[in-house]
Amino acid sequence: MAFTFANHAGRAVLVDGDSFHDLEALSGGAVPSDPAAALAHGDKFHDLQKKTAGRPPEGRIDVTQLGAPSPAPQKVFGIGLNYKTHAAESKMDVPDNPVVFAKFSSCICAPNSNVELRSNGVDYEGEIVVIIGKGGRDIDRIDAWNHVFGITAGQDVSDRPVQMASKPPHFDLGKSFDTFGPIGPVAVSPDALPDRDVIAIKCLVNGEERQNDTSANLIFGIPFLIEYLSHITTLHTGDVIFTGTPAGVGAAQKKLLRDGDVITTTIDGVGTMTNTCVRVADHNLPLVKKA
Ligand code: ZN
Repeated sequence: MAFTFANHAGRAVLVDGDSFHDLEALSGGAVPSDPAAALAHGDKFHDLQKKTAGRPPEGRIDVTQLGAPSPAPQKVFGIGLNYKTHAAESKMDVPDNPVVFAKFSSCICAPNSNVELRSNGVDYEGEIVVIIGKGGRDIDRIDAWNHVFGITAGQDVSDRPVQMASKPPHFDLGKSFDTFGPIGPVAVSPDALPDRDVIAIKCLVNGEERQNDTSANLIFGIPFLIEYLSHITTLHTGDVIFTGTPAGVGAAQKKLLRDGDVITTTIDGVGTMTNTCVRVADHNLPLVKKA
């Protein structure tokens, strides 16, 4: 049975409608309450989700209490230019091989947390995000879905001036500011999705639709990415892959983020997360051209 997992008030829970069941209690102690540790027990969650039927829940989901479904990944990958339409709007060639960068795991934050802007060049990138369940090395694409714990929504927030500061550009730092990796609101098992190969994503800013696409249009799909990355580095439970953003980013339309902007990211079958932008400072990096 499909499951819906959340990090609620720092505890691992299964979600049923707008209520939650505490996984440690539901499993009789077999699943740890720590959400990061609980991710290694995903194979038990299918049966545990069945057990929630008719059981009184511990409480109702409070969206302000949701944390990142994988709060402490060892690795966070980003994939650049993974939709043809986004490569075109970025005036870049469609890549022959995946454009992979790192987001440092310290950027991962709660689904509804504020995004802190330190320049006028910060952009949104709504993305379908994969959380690894069973880790591994040299995973074949045929077997890749068996290594997916769940799918969640993410914002690959990007400070464009920092991302492009060096020649050739090196994306990692510009995409790793603290608060630049909200994910959530929940993680759903792939079998909970209407179609795991056609996952629909939408991103709005201040209610205006900016991005709307599906994973069917990924240049490098989820199974391929898992195969590719795991041939290079061992994937661990909780590792996160931002699979790439569709067309409609702010840089392409001169609609970069400003103080008070509200980003809404929705994945069908997963849910919606809402992030408010707060202009906290200027980053004052000596080598960066001001946006
Ligand atoms: Zn991205």
